[in-house]
Amino acid sequence: MLTKEQIEDFKARLEKERDILTTELASLGKRNPTNPADWEPAPQGDVFGADRNDNADIIEELHENNAAINDLEVRLVSVNEALVRINEGTYGVCQVSGEDIELDRLNANPAAKTCMEHMSEGAV
Ligand SMILES: [Zn+2]
Repeated sequence: MLTKEQIEDFKARLEKERDILTTELASLGKRNPTNPADWEPAPQGDVFGADRNDNADIIEELHENNAAINDLEVRLVSVNEALVRINEGTYGVCQVSGEDIELDRLNANPAAKTCMEHMSEGAV
């Protein structure tokens, strides 16, 4: 069982990670205006022009940014879900077995949803 202090500590770490992820997403893309949880790649500075090679470079950069954005979004969702579990009082409990998640595992990944034994069954 986690103590209140341990949970507060993980909460602070998760909130910090959420802020870092949000900053990274903002540097790579822009929020989808119709879905604030979704981020889209946005050209940084460059805009499409008359030069085909320049445009190809911009498109390639957008594709790379899109892959990075997807990774960051996935991580941000896990972090936000962990923060919800803290609010609901279910944080630190394996979602497969219902047992306490090992402290080592939470230290390595505060957004962990499962104990080590069930890592492969619960995403992340
Ligand atoms: Zn488990």
